[in-house]
Amino acid sequence: MKVIEGKDIQAWKDQHPLLNELISLKEVFWTNPHIEKFQRGMDKSPLTQEDVRDAEERLKRFAPYIAKVFPETKEMNGLIESPMVRIPSMKQFLEQLYQQPLVGELLLKCDSHLPISGSIKARGGIYEILKHAETLAFQHQLLTIQDDYSILDSDKFRTFFSQYSIAVGSTGNLGLSIGIMSAKLGFNVTVHMSADAKQWKKDLLRSKNVKVVEYEADYSKAVEEGRMQAEKDPTCYFVDDENSHDLFLGYAVAASRLKKQLEELEITIDKDHPLFIYLPCGVGGGPGGVAFGLKLLFQDNVHCFFAEPTHSPCMLLGLMTGLHDKVAVQDFGIDNVTDADGLAVGRPSGFVGKTMEPFLSGNYTVSDEQLYKLLKELVDTEGIRLEPSALAGMIGPSKLCKEGTDYLLKHHLTEKMNKGTHIVWGTGGSMVPEEMMNEYYQKGMKLALEK
Ligand SMILES: *Cc1c(COP(=O)(O)O)cnc(C)c1O
Repeated sequence: MKVIEGKDIQAWKDQHPLLNELISLKEVFWTNPHIEKFQRGMDKSPLTQEDVRDAEERLKRFAPYIAKVFPETKEMNGLIESPMVRIPSMKQFLEQLYQQPLVGELLLKCDSHLPISGSIKARGGIYEILKHAETLAFQHQLLTIQDDYSILDSDKFRTFFSQYSIAVGSTGNLGLSIGIMSAKLGFNVTVHMSADAKQWKKDLLRSKNVKVVEYEADYSKAVEEGRMQAEKDPTCYFVDDENSHDLFLGYAVAASRLKKQLEELEITIDKDHPLFIYLPCGVGGGPGGVAFGLKLLFQDNVHCFFAEPTHSPCMLLGLMTGLHDKVAVQDFGIDNVTDADGLAVGRPSGFVGKTMEPFLSGNYTVSDEQLYKLLKELVDTEGIRLEPSALAGMIGPSKLCKEGTDYLLKHHLTEKMNKGTHIVWGTGGSMVPEEMMNEYYQKGMKLALEK
């Protein structure tokens, strides 16, 4: 019999009955029993508000450079940021589909439309490469904090960075961000791609002088290979998606930007106006970083939920069992096969799981069929095109209203819901080739007709 950290599967199931549903690939909704008041959670946190501010300042220093080399960011003065929009027609559809009133306002954060790499990875991935470049340039006295960083767009700097290499393992989107940014600075960059990575992402990277190595195996294997390559080469820097504080902090900067957008939309968040966030989760860094940043700003007034595919519920499994990165979904017979490529991760980040444990409100799973149906419907109702993974958040508000009533009662939210705001994090999609997007849409249409 298979034993996981000293207990067989039946013993784990007895302790956590929800595992039965998780293993049979049913959609589940789980609230986190370890959530704490914000301040108590912060006492345990390895990262602080200061760390996030430091990341924000660094991105500001790089803004003149980004504006220069990525003209699509000029309008935003070199800040890599996405719009946020109300989606009232989609809200109506969700209420009909799930036969569940959706109390509060519904908005979509369009990280699908982040410049440069078209997904949430344009936050963490690009930030980590910029930080590494800055560190190297400081060490060699080529740059100071007072300089206008647009000087980095020169042959002198590109030649300097070409002495160094960068490696990363990815299911696709992280590879795009790391690859595009590293190549632009002049680094030698290698992306180790898992089997599920889409061909167009590999082609795009190769067209930008990025070395792409393909594997027959899943994400964990691609990461392992990247790590090994970097260990052999002292000039190689490995972007560690499973453990990186820098990635996490790059994502966390989203929060202060979102706060401004909420103010512009005249949306209040306070004790009587709760905020609910629904974030698609793979290894955890993206959603974890964003949620962490939001907790710092809105504390107990924000409630963050992670969304995972029914076939890859790694973060939920790690949090529920407390095993974090000591467990993979495959240990429980779950196959980690999903079309939601950014989310096809079998083993969660231990760093993110442990950091988020006191802050996360809950976690739920969603089937690939739902993702396609929601994808089609978002196009029809709002004219917004997201990739399948990015729809995982969309079902969250309905699930919370339907299955989260205990959570709402416990946190005295039930009567405040009509003054609440739900933000679904749309994590990717604007760079998906039109042909492929049409295929996704057709798939959603077919599934919608079946029921
Ligand atoms: C990577 C990714 C996520 C999740 O981010 P993690 O850091 O892997 O948890 C969500 N959606 C999309 C589209 C992604 O590419």
